Amino acid sequence: MNIARKIINGMLNFVLPNVCLGCEGMLSNNESYLCSSCMLTLERYNETHPWQSQKISEGIVENSLSVYWFRENTPIQNIFHELKYRKIKRAGLMLGEHIGKMIQEQNFSSYDLIIPVPLHKAKLRDRTYNQSEFIALGIKNILNIPVIKDVLCRKRFTPSQTKLNKLERKENVNGAFEISEVKRNIVAGKNIILCDDVITTGATILECALTLKTAGAAKILVCSAAYAELKTNTL
Ligand SMILES: [Zn+2]
Repeated sequence: MNIARKIINGMLNFVLPNVCLGCEGMLSNNESYLCSSCMLTLERYNETHPWQSQKISEGIVENSLSVYWFRENTPIQNIFHELKYRKIKRAGLMLGEHIGKMIQEQNFSSYDLIIPVPLHKAKLRDRTYNQSEFIALGIKNILNIPVIKDVLCRKRFTPSQTKLNKLERKENVNGAFEISEVKRNIVAGKNIILCDDVITTGATILECALTLKTAGAAKILVCSAAYAELKTNTL
């Protein structure tokens, strides 16, 4: 696709729902979000997270899942680019709906709330939106349970994780989240779906899970649209 065409299609993507999120080609009537050839490139993450059994035995999470592998230079990278840098809400909705369907396929507990991993207020002002909230809304489309976005807060600004190793990432987010005393009753005793766009080492989302557990949450399902290996994470 030449550059001019790409720019035009990119602009169309802002206003038209019938442009493929993976390749920016026009969708046919029976396609939504993605064309059938981009859909075929999505690679399911049919594995368990490396830390899953440990975190289950520690009682931090009940379960965890990611829907796809994050692979560079494939349509999934384009979808995340649309979501993260171009504020294309339907990219988040699509990914969230795929998470919701995967949750339905599993024999998990029933859940009361969906909570997206929050951004720090300063970062939210800067970016104007939290991409994980769009994913949460997609999960809601399938499971029909409420999204709660003002309970779990990032109290400390944390530098970007992209250049940090596994241990540094854990330290980077240690104690970074909080739930105010007056809002603890919203999560206490509740089964919660905690969602993010991408899980890499799991440091961020597991710190959120720990914060929710400390506030009295019952069961927590940690989930993301994609799982990225540390070396390939360029988001
Ligand atoms: Zn496509």
